[in-house]
Amino acid sequence: MPTATDILRTTFGYRAFRPPQDRIIETLVSGGNALVLMPTGGGKSLCYQIPAIVRDGCGIVISPLIALMQDQVNALRQQDVAAAYLNSTLDQQTAQQVEQDLLAGRLDLLYVAPERLKQPRTLALLQQAPVALFAIDEAHCVSQWGHDFRADYLQLSLLHEQFPHIPRIALTATADERTREEIITRLALGDAQHFIAGFDRPNIRYRIGLKNNARQQLLRFMKEEHPTDAGIIYCMSRKKTDETAAWLQSHGFNALPYHAGLDSNLRAEHQSRFLREEGLVMVATIAFGMGIDKPNVRFVAHLDMPKTVEAYYQETGRAGRDGEPANAWMVYGLQDVIKLRQMTASSEGNDAFKRAEQHRLNAMLGLCEVTSCRRQSLLSYFGENLPDPCGNCDTCLQPVATWDGTDAARKALSVAYRTGQRFGVNHLIDVLRGANTDKIHQFDHQLLPLHGLGIDIDNNQWRSVFRQLVARGYLSVDLERFGALRLEDKCRPLLKGNEAINLRRDTTTEVAKQTTRTALPDTIDIALWEALREHRRELAEQQDVPPYVIFHDRTLQEMCQSLPTNPQQFGQLTGVGERKLQKYGGSFIAVINGHLQATIT
Ligand code: ADP
Ligand code: ZN
Repeated sequence: MPTATDILRTTFGYRAFRPPQDRIIETLVSGGNALVLMPTGGGKSLCYQIPAIVRDGCGIVISPLIALMQDQVNALRQQDVAAAYLNSTLDQQTAQQVEQDLLAGRLDLLYVAPERLKQPRTLALLQQAPVALFAIDEAHCVSQWGHDFRADYLQLSLLHEQFPHIPRIALTATADERTREEIITRLALGDAQHFIAGFDRPNIRYRIGLKNNARQQLLRFMKEEHPTDAGIIYCMSRKKTDETAAWLQSHGFNALPYHAGLDSNLRAEHQSRFLREEGLVMVATIAFGMGIDKPNVRFVAHLDMPKTVEAYYQETGRAGRDGEPANAWMVYGLQDVIKLRQMTASSEGNDAFKRAEQHRLNAMLGLCEVTSCRRQSLLSYFGENLPDPCGNCDTCLQPVATWDGTDAARKALSVAYRTGQRFGVNHLIDVLRGANTDKIHQFDHQLLPLHGLGIDIDNNQWRSVFRQLVARGYLSVDLERFGALRLEDKCRPLLKGNEAINLRRDTTTEVAKQTTRTALPDTIDIALWEALREHRRELAEQQDVPPYVIFHDRTLQEMCQSLPTNPQQFGQLTGVGERKLQKYGGSFIAVINGHLQATIT
């Protein structure tokens, strides 16, 4: 009987477990239950796949993402694991075949949709079949508190009632306490071993910069750092989504729009192209999300600021699921702050709800304005403590300077007050900078003592002062008069001279410009990399599977670095098990040899 480690090496082609994978697998193999909380990309799948192979019988995986079952099963079959799925997309004949295979003990893994599982017919089938374990993937769907609640998941409590002796493992990347408790009660996991890994996504580089012609900033970022990578760009409106996609196309990028206003067939087509093609960029509203587990999304960009830190974390979390370096890039500005403040103020709901929304928005603005490590700030929002600055966010890589903005802030607040709290930021800056516009003369604002008192600070920096004052809640945005700034109670100590304020010094340079590409190590020969990707694409197309099902980017990168020229060397690469070595070793080695000869001659 092969051990878990044997299977890890020969079937999956990995050298070692990433703790706590080994302990989770041990727990299940010896018949125990487990609750696993691990961030996206942490390696949850192996935690049930390997025990399912080691134990007698078939592992039943319950997953809400029907669209992805086929890809997951394809990926397992590539490694010679006997896997299948049962859901509404199968015709009757195929479904019957799967059922027979299950009963005959020919399957190691069977993916089942929750609505299928609860059918009496399926339950009867499972009672007769040899079942190794139940894995409940995306277990947070059982929580009514969470945002992905699925009614069908509530039925999963029947598992421990009807199959009390079969081990269960519930897995999720959603960490908050309340959801966790709901999972434990609903799935009766009180006696389960808990494996709670941190929430951090260390391979994601967080960068938040100031908006200054956002499209050009985005274009530069993509050209310099992700010219051929897959990525997602989030925008707030459908219109902006369409326009941005068209504009990127005109600049040579393979970009497609995705939003709820598109015809559903077109939406499905765009999603499937995103999964299957290399280097496709999806410009999307938040409608694009659930079930996007393409592993090699190399960047997520935000052209508009999300309303909450939760949304930001979830959206950026779609980058780098394969654990390789990825970028979370965002630009924002005063207008975003004003727009979001207005949106929350005018949203439906009672006061308590609005207060909660304001609170969440404040946290998001706080994250944008923070001058210390962004990852520390992000994680602490989720109740996790990161002892040291991460070294992989913009504020760590390019420390932000601060300045004593007390005097400037007082002037900014005073000018809003003296002009009757009826004007927007542009006019207030004009007054401070001593401009002589029609509007100033219309209201006699040239007569104010403050007129011209802020000439020493330029326009951009004044905008920065106002933005930070709004973001920190010293000023609010008047709904009745579009964009008019009003003083909040919080201003008092500052105006009275009892409080000082430190402000972020915004630089006009790029979003913490990084000199290195994050996706590929510098030492890689781009020509070889492209040739290997092209070969992978051909193979994927022949089999009608996404390219990453053949090999992950990581494996191709290692090919570029170690240049294997015989099967023995090829077998050492991460992600190359026995089956893949047999199937693909020869043709990839041929590509590498071809490239080596071309470069020598
Ligand atoms: P999750 O479901 O937690 O988001 P996955 O199970 O999809 O994560 O794994 C993420 C990536 O890490 C995959 O590319 C997977 O093949 C890889 N991986 C998982 N475990 C290991 C390991 N022990 N060694 C190397 N790579 C691993
Ligand atoms: Zn940091």
